[in-house]
Parts: sequence; C-alpha cells; structure tokens
Amino acid sequence: MGNVLKSLGVTLAVSLSVAAALSLVGIPFWSCVILATVVQIVVWQGFQYYVSVQSSIKSRDTEKELLKEFIANSVTVPCAYCKHQNWTLIRLDDNNSVKCENCKKESVLYVHIETAQVTVPLKSLDVEDTIKINEL
Ligand SMILES: [Zn+2]
Repeated sequence: MGNVLKSLGVTLAVSLSVAAALSLVGIPFWSCVILATVVQIVVWQGFQYYVSVQSSIKSRDTEKELLKEFIANSVTVPCAYCKHQNWTLIRLDDNNSVKCENCKKESVLYVHIETAQVTVPLKSLDVEDTIKINEL
C-alpha cells in the first residue's frame, strides 16, 4: 500500500511539474496535468509489458537449454528385474539408479566407460579398389 501511494505521489509530482512548466508558455495547467498523468501511465504499462515479454523469452530459452541438457544426458535402460525399458538421467558425478515404471522396483546403474579406435569405412566393396586405397 505504501508503494502504491509513493508511486501515485511521484506520478502526480511529475505531472504537476510538467504542467507548471508548460503553463508558463500558455498551455492550460489542468489539461497538462491530465495529459502528463495519462502519458506516464501508458509509458509505465508499456515498459512493464516489455519487461514481462523479455522475461518470458529468457525463461523459455532457459527451459530449452535445460531440456537439451537433459536429453543429452539421458539413456534408456532395461529394468534389472522385469527388463522393462526405462528412460533415465545419467550423472557421472553421482550414483545412478532408476525406479522401474512397470514393476516399481529400483535398479542400480553402473556406468562403464571404455575407449576404441576410430574406424574408417571402406569407400568401395571392390577388393582391388580397397587394396589400392590401403596402398596409398
Ligand atoms: Zn521392472
């Protein structure tokens, strides 16, 4: 309530100041007060609308990023009891477990990481071409 009164006071003070200044050049005082008040309210509403739109865009972008991150770190794993496929988030910095959607039992996930050489696909299935490529 105090903030509302303060806002109204500031709006009225600005309107009265503008009207006082414009009345010096012959523009009617009370018309200026009303016009300046309306302009301030319209500008303030426009500003609040802009801020809320920006905020919702930012929040939507954040949600998209989180979803992308979630999808990148998720896997489908079979339940250790009934083999039902469950979609779950994998964390490398914590113990992982998944509660089965089907039998409601909890399975522990072991993450095993290994490396392998990158293989290059053959360009041709023709034996002579393959030998030539390998000789190059
Ligand atoms: Zn299960």
